Amino acid sequence: MADQDFPTGTLMAGKRGLIMGVANKNSIAWAIARQLAAQGAELAFTFQGEALARRVRPLAESIGSDILVECDVTNDDTMDNTFATLKDKWGKIDFLVHAIAFAGKDQLAGSFIDNTTREGFKSALDISAYSFVDAGRRAAAMMNDGGAMVTLTYLGSERVIPNYNVMGVAKAALEASTRYMAADLGPRGIRVNAISAGPIKTLAAAGIGSGRHMFRFNKAAAAMRDNTDPMGVAGAALYLLSDLGLSCTGETHHVDGGFHAIGMPAEDAMTEASGG
Ligand code: NAD
Repeated sequence: MADQDFPTGTLMAGKRGLIMGVANKNSIAWAIARQLAAQGAELAFTFQGEALARRVRPLAESIGSDILVECDVTNDDTMDNTFATLKDKWGKIDFLVHAIAFAGKDQLAGSFIDNTTREGFKSALDISAYSFVDAGRRAAAMMNDGGAMVTLTYLGSERVIPNYNVMGVAKAALEASTRYMAADLGPRGIRVNAISAGPIKTLAAAGIGSGRHMFRFNKAAAAMRDNTDPMGVAGAALYLLSDLGLSCTGETHHVDGGFHAIGMPAEDAMTEASGG
């Protein structure tokens, strides 16, 4: 997907926003950023730690962005600095993309009940769910003429996905937070939505045990019999963050080739999924 072109247009012309969660060119946040930039948006980026700065800086520069701030969502000082920088440079913002999640590798394999520790639970919920509430509150304070926010979630919040474990619980909290944020911010014309994306090969996805099985099963069992294209996720983000998404808020929108709609995969899909 890194080499695909996004259609250009003016849907986001005059709008400025913050993208949180680009780690490299495979990040879902990067597909969304390119889509928004192709429609005229001006973007600022956060990155987590100097190691990632080396990857994120050239990406940001390639779409003309010069606002790049280090931010670890567990560190209030870096969150303060991120939004103070935006306030200083832009005064106000129009949108926020939150594409951040983390759980320790030991929490993402085997038995949920046996392997989930108090610390693992707290950290997964803090980084993957609370950070959206925190960033959303700070972003909303800078949205004077309405605005829009989008976060990224996964079906493991609604159904049991092997090895997804505590991250499924964190995503359920993230989706519930999306609804509460939408209710709080709706009267100010600020919309808050989540995109539930199917599996996509990224750094974060590599941390989940049985990744190969997940991609093979999704491809076989999804209504579209294919894995999720990040461009589809980026397109959904464009809809939700632009005026096309007017009146849509509090929603968890699935972009997963229809995988979520299937109750029982067809027989031939099961054979294919098992590699037969
Ligand atoms: P990614 O690894 O490219 O992005 C994850 C980002 O989270 C990274 O940029 C990382 O730096 C950031 N992050 C983690 N801990 C952080 C912290 N403490 N402070 C600041 N940033 C932190 O992977 P991705 O798949 O693009 O993930 C983006 C979002 O999409 C995540 O919320 C993920 O759960 C969600 N998602 C991914 C998939 C998938 O299959 N890849 C499917 C559905 C939803």
